[in-house]
Amino acid sequence: MSRIPKSDHAIHPQHVNPAAIRIVKRLRDSGFEAYIVGGAVRDLILGGQPKDFDVATNAKPEEIKGLFRRYRIIGSRFQIEHVRDGREVIEVTTYRGPHDSEDSLKNASKRSDKGLLLRDNVYGTLEQDAARRDLTINALYYDPLDETVLDQIDGGRDISARLIRVIGDPVKRYQEDPVRMLRVVRFAAKLQFDIEADTEAGIGKCAALLTEIPPARLFDEFLKLFMAGYGKPTLLLLLEHGLLHCLCPEAASLIASEPQYRTLVTSAMANTDQRVKDDRPVTPAFLLAALLWPALQARGNALAQQGEPPLQAVHSAGQQVIAETCLHMAIPRRFSFPVREIWELQPRLERKQPKKIKDLLANRRFRAAYDLLLLRAESGEPLEGIGEFWDQQQQKHPELVGTAPPRPDDRPPRRRRPRRNRNP
Ligand code: ATP
Ligand code: MG
Repeated sequence: MSRIPKSDHAIHPQHVNPAAIRIVKRLRDSGFEAYIVGGAVRDLILGGQPKDFDVATNAKPEEIKGLFRRYRIIGSRFQIEHVRDGREVIEVTTYRGPHDSEDSLKNASKRSDKGLLLRDNVYGTLEQDAARRDLTINALYYDPLDETVLDQIDGGRDISARLIRVIGDPVKRYQEDPVRMLRVVRFAAKLQFDIEADTEAGIGKCAALLTEIPPARLFDEFLKLFMAGYGKPTLLLLLEHGLLHCLCPEAASLIASEPQYRTLVTSAMANTDQRVKDDRPVTPAFLLAALLWPALQARGNALAQQGEPPLQAVHSAGQQVIAETCLHMAIPRRFSFPVREIWELQPRLERKQPKKIKDLLANRRFRAAYDLLLLRAESGEPLEGIGEFWDQQQQKHPELVGTAPPRPDDRPPRRRRPRRNRNP
């Protein structure tokens, strides 16, 4: 085990969440081991601002419960304790151990017949905990008391070399949890790191395993992949490694084979990335509308050729595309409804019917639909002058844009606590 001294890393205690430090101290004062771990340490070493702070400890859940009053266990496949400190919630996890240990017999570990880990609540030591994490760069343990970093598996070396490397044998680790392949790509895109050769080769062998993942988990992963401000590089890497197919196979094939679709979808991602950087609001609905547009168009054209009127064709194609995509990633209705509205506005905007202009401007999906229309025109669809036309209309009636009240069947979006998807 190596220990990186304070002088050799860039973490400044001022940048560490005080609630996480208090929780570590509390655990230490009670005789337990406790460290700040995972993405927070990685991001702090790289000079970034962590999204969240996680604590790992050798205290068992019952012992954590005894120490903190405001506490709640979440997850069953991978149990995590949420400890509240003021308004902050810090995730505290007991060290995990290998699955062939004695504990694993006591119903704490469970695998599917394909080797997928269905339950991972076998406890272990710090060394074992580090070995069970996904990437070397995510397996660093920061001690806020003496300000050193414990580095079990050369995560420090890989951060310096800017390499994404899976811990252990990549194929085995992907078989245990195929979502790790998406995490490899996500961190490579976000950090602009290279993917180590075996880590990369394993993806080629295991990509198909992602079909085993429950669609709800894949949708959560979709949000992390595309809503964090690195959507464009992430999309390109997913395409390069044949991983986009696990999220939306039909659209992925068209994006991979037809340059104009690739242009459209990468531009949509780039727009969203810019909005994230500018701190402007972003919605998954617009991204989904653009990402799945190739599939919508293919199906819509096919239906129109079979004689369906154009608006009806888009409506039916929308239903089909959403239903088909939900087999792979479960898009909640609060997003799939607006996606279909954005699609259904496309042919209506293309028609430029004078009597409908005010209604269309007032539609509350107008802005998103107009943005998609512009991307379609820019990517080479024959829609000459359409952008200018709707630009002029908006200038004429700026007070109308997006003002129509919600339709009665629109339920307000339900706020959901983001699910943290981690497996062993
Ligand atoms: P970020 O929060 O910035 O997306 P992170 O690395 O903190 O990145 P989390 O999903 O918050 O990612 O997970 C926290 C830590 O848990 C990771 O750093 C990693 O050590 C471990 N982990 C998460 N998911 C997995 C997994 N599927 N397999 C193994 N370890 C995982
Ligand atoms: Mg995290």
